[in-house]
Amino acid sequence: MAFDFDLFVIGAGSGGVRAARFAAGFGARVAVAESRYLGGTCVNVGCVPKKLLVYGAHVADELEQAAGFGWTLEEGHFDWGTLIANKNREIERLNGIYRNLLVNSGVTLLQGHARLTGANEVEVDGQRYTAEHILIATGGWPQVPDIPGKELAITSNEAFYLKDLPRRVLVVGGGYIAVEFAGIFQGLGADTTLLYRGDLFLRGFDGSVRTHLKEELEKRGLDLQFNADIQRIDKLEDGRLKATLKDGRELVADCVFYATGRRPMLDNLGLENTGVELDARGYIRVDEQYQTTAPSILAIGDVIGRVQLTPVALAEGMAVARRLFKPEQYRPVDYQNIPTAVFSQPPIGTVGLTEEQALEAGHKVQVFESRFRAMKLTLTDIQEKTLMKLVVDAQTDKVLGCHMVGPDAGEIIQGLGIALKAGATKQQFDETIGVHPTAAEEFVTMRTVTR
Ligand code: FAD
Ligand code: NDP
Repeated sequence: MAFDFDLFVIGAGSGGVRAARFAAGFGARVAVAESRYLGGTCVNVGCVPKKLLVYGAHVADELEQAAGFGWTLEEGHFDWGTLIANKNREIERLNGIYRNLLVNSGVTLLQGHARLTGANEVEVDGQRYTAEHILIATGGWPQVPDIPGKELAITSNEAFYLKDLPRRVLVVGGGYIAVEFAGIFQGLGADTTLLYRGDLFLRGFDGSVRTHLKEELEKRGLDLQFNADIQRIDKLEDGRLKATLKDGRELVADCVFYATGRRPMLDNLGLENTGVELDARGYIRVDEQYQTTAPSILAIGDVIGRVQLTPVALAEGMAVARRLFKPEQYRPVDYQNIPTAVFSQPPIGTVGLTEEQALEAGHKVQVFESRFRAMKLTLTDIQEKTLMKLVVDAQTDKVLGCHMVGPDAGEIIQGLGIALKAGATKQQFDETIGVHPTAAEEFVTMRTVTR
């Protein structure tokens, strides 16, 4: 059968664009359908605008530190509208770049919602297209628990377009987005409370990291409330919101922001017309090569619910393009030692096993841990501490995990990710000459076993 396309990609986000561009580069006839925005979540309502807002919030730190370095500044004023307008302009520029990337690599770009009508057929705006392979890369969507008044709450999608910075914000959740946005709101001047249902936020991160970040956020005046969850939200006459907690307490705020995880985006996708099955958590079930239970249909990125990070979606997109159209270059994605950062204030950088995971996996563990006040702060009154931690296998001397909380943690952890991928030992860390004076050199100068 002659198909219209060799590959039809649904979703022009991180994973879809990567797969489409490279498949076209390998000579395939490729189409991409996008219903919302080019570049997907990361570019429009994720990594990029988030990081721009984080930079904005960090300016407050720089201003606070300035006096110690001899700068006298007139009282500053922050304007949310300017930051959002500048952010929007940058996102529009990136949308254009994504369009050019696709069109210039020969991809047919279809703007509209795509719906599967068969194992080799997709419908976009009433027009049907056939393809030998179909790639679902539709990403995810914020998920808010079903409580009375949930429609009064916002999620990250809306936060990027708020007209004004709320004066008082309740952030609900204890994962990446909650912690990052609590830092953004608070850094930009909003009175911010973070409510998390468990004992300590950032479940799954290293225990020292979680405790250290908690202490540092509290030093900054963020109101952290653990073992706290909202039962209902009501609108008050003055327009503010009243959150009634499960323990009966009532909190009033201008904005309630939910970051309680994301669901796969499967809305009106037409999976019922195919043999594509979901896994127990509701994500698309795929094998190691991203093939769904329908042989002609593949899926990558957030919609398969493995590791919901842009570089992972990119790697999966690349793997699919190579496997289908350049098999001699195919290499499976390595899910071990994925470095990641939480852009909290201060940020977290982490790669490899946490101390808890290493112990659970049966390693005999040596822990090297260091807490220190960064040199930059010595001329200021700020008492923030940086944490660095190495988790080492005592038998093989291999470094199993590197964890950090402190300025530039994301930048620093990227290089350590390469070291872990290369299987570096603690001795090799010790034999590496430090870059002086930096905070990062602490990772190669920790000599005393903490535990
Ligand atoms: P997406 O990028 O979500 O793309 C899916 C695309 O498919 C969307 O454009 C959507 O409109 C389109 N689509 C959906 N259904 C259809 C349909 N039926 N027809 C046509 N088009 C459709 N990751 C990081 O690595 N670092 C970060 O700092 C980071 N920060 C984040 C901050 C926030 C607030 C959020 C929400 C996420 C963040 N992430 C971050 C995660 C990252 O954005 C995602 O992992 C990544 O975007 C997933 O890529 P994807 O290709 O799977 O899906
Ligand atoms: P996460 O899965 O990271 O965190 C969800 C949080 O919400 C958890 O603390 C969870 O608690 C809590 N939660 C879940 N359900 C409920 C509920 N019904 N009531 C109260 N609390 C609840 O999701 P996010 O939304 O923060 O982010 C989604 C993903 O996007 C991240 O996992 C990450 O992969 C990616 N991302 C990456 C970023 C980065 O790289 N810097 C930044 C932002 C997002 P519990 O732990 O108890 O289950």
